[in-house]
Amino acid sequence: MKFKKLIIQGFKSFVDKTVIDFPDGITCIVGPNGSGKSNILDAIRWILGEQNPKELRGSDMDDIIFAGSEKRSQSNVASVTLVISDISEELAGKWGSFSEIEISRKYYRDGEREYFINNKRCKLKDIREIFFDTGLGARSISIIEQGKVEKIISASPEEIRVFFDEAAGITRFKEKKKDAEKRLEQAKENLNRVKDIISEVK
Ligand code: ATP
Repeated sequence: MKFKKLIIQGFKSFVDKTVIDFPDGITCIVGPNGSGKSNILDAIRWILGEQNPKELRGSDMDDIIFAGSEKRSQSNVASVTLVISDISEELAGKWGSFSEIEISRKYYRDGEREYFINNKRCKLKDIREIFFDTGLGARSISIIEQGKVEKIISASPEEIRVFFDEAAGITRFKEKKKDAEKRLEQAKENLNRVKDIISEVK
């Protein structure tokens, strides 16, 4: 799996549509302090499924939307699209594409959220699932931002376990287990309800 292109609009300092291509080889993003380099990483972490605004260097989710400047009024929606290539056959089949997949996430100032894969509406869970086996999840150590090394060194064993699970591809199974347990609980409740009805009818 390769990142091919990132399209950002209304996200943090990127008020206008900005397209960042990742050609083969190494891509470096350079710029003066405060020019938005880390905001690009935040956009990547967000499209990979990050839900906690603090992990995106904000205090609440509204902080990811362009807040306005002297010359520009604030945006009402933050939008990030990631195009990935070299995807598995399973993924391509699931989302009806050949070699690429386009993932989009939008967050509106009124709190509305939208998720798309290849322009089809989907759930955040579908987006997160794409990255489960890749070691590329939002919290994985494939993104090392300022202070991350220190954070890893001082992490609790439980927190370190999350990094290992992610790198070893175990997260997918843990999420599936959680899902199955939820459905099992629901089925138990339904069964109890049916038992109640049966005893009422008797
Ligand atoms: P450094 O090299 O110092 O680490 P950087 O290039 O990584 O800097 P960022 O941290 O990505 O810079 O960007 C910081 C800039 O983004 C600040 O000017 C900040 O005001 C701006 N910014 C952050 N959030 C928003 C927002 N919601 N709306 C508008 N601008 C924002």
